[in-house]
Amino acid sequence: MAASGKDQVKIILVMGKSGSGKQPRIDCLAEEFGFKQISTGNLFRECIGTFNSIGFEGSLNETWDEEKKDFKDDAVIVELLKQKSKTPDVLAKPETNMQTVLLGCKAKYFVESGLFVPDTLTHGIFANAFESYFAAPLESCGSARRGLILDGFPRTIGQAEFLLELLSKHSLKVDFILEVDLDDETIVKRTTGRRICPGCQSVFHLMFKPPRDGQFCTKCGAVVKQRADDATEDLLRRRLNEFATKVAPCLAFLKEKGIPVVTVPGNLPDPSPAAVKESVMGSVSKLWQ
Ligand code: AMP
Repeated sequence: MAASGKDQVKIILVMGKSGSGKQPRIDCLAEEFGFKQISTGNLFRECIGTFNSIGFEGSLNETWDEEKKDFKDDAVIVELLKQKSKTPDVLAKPETNMQTVLLGCKAKYFVESGLFVPDTLTHGIFANAFESYFAAPLESCGSARRGLILDGFPRTIGQAEFLLELLSKHSLKVDFILEVDLDDETIVKRTTGRRICPGCQSVFHLMFKPPRDGQFCTKCGAVVKQRADDATEDLLRRRLNEFATKVAPCLAFLKEKGIPVVTVPGNLPDPSPAAVKESVMGSVSKLWQ
C-alpha cells in the first residue's frame, strides 16, 4: 500500500460473515472517506421486495427445473407468476419491471434457504449498480470524489475475478480489504437480535443498536423486521457454511493478488460508534505509515 496514500483510495471491500458486524464498520468508513456503499445483499432484498409485492401463492420450487439444475425458462416462470399471483394487477402495471420481479423470484429461492445466489445472477446486479454509480455525475455522489465501499461482493473466486476485470476497465483497483472477524458461535447468538428496516435498509440490533421504542426505524420510521434468512439457527449455520467454503477461498485469492487486508474484530467490549471508529481507523491508518 505504500505507493498510494489515503487520498488515492477509491475502492474498499468489506468482507466478513453475515452477522459479524460489518455495517457499523462500513458506516465508519463511509463517513471517513465520504464514499457510497454498494451492498449486493441490499440489492437482492430490494428485488425480493418487488417480487413479494405480487403476492405469489405458489411454491418457489415450481420455478426450478431439477433435471437442468437451473431455473425454468423466464417465459415459463412469468406465466406461472401470472397464474399464481394474488395481485395480478400489480404484475400488469407498466411500472412493474418484470426483470426485477424475475430476479427477486430467483434470488429469494437461494437467499431464504441460507445459500448464496449463483454468480451469473450476482454479476449482473452488481455490475448494474457499479456502472450506474460511475455513469452518474459527480455532484450526485454526495462526495467531493468518487469512491465505493463494496459490502458482500465479491463472495466467490468467480466474483473476485469478475470484479478485478470490471475495475481494470475503469482503471481502478481494490485499494484495501477490511475483514471483520467474528467466530460462528457468537454470530449465531448475536444474529437473533438483528432487525432491518424494509424501507431504507438500515440495520438495528435489539440490544446493541435498538430501533426506536424497540420497533421503529430511527431514520424513516418504518417498523423494523427480522430478515427472512435470519429466522432459524439452521439457516444461519447454512450461511456460515457458505462463508467457509466460498468466501474464505475468495479472500485468500485476493490476498494472493497482493491486495492489503486489514482485519478488525467484529465484537468490541464497547460497541459505541466512537469505539468502532477507533478500532477501524486505528488499523486502517497503518496502511499509510
Ligand atoms: P447480506 O445482506 O450481505 O448478508 O446478504 C444476504 C444474502 O444475499 C446472502 O446470504 C446471499 O444469499 C445473498 N447475497 C448477497 N451478496 C451475495 C453475493 N455476492 N453472492 C451470492 N449471494 C449473495
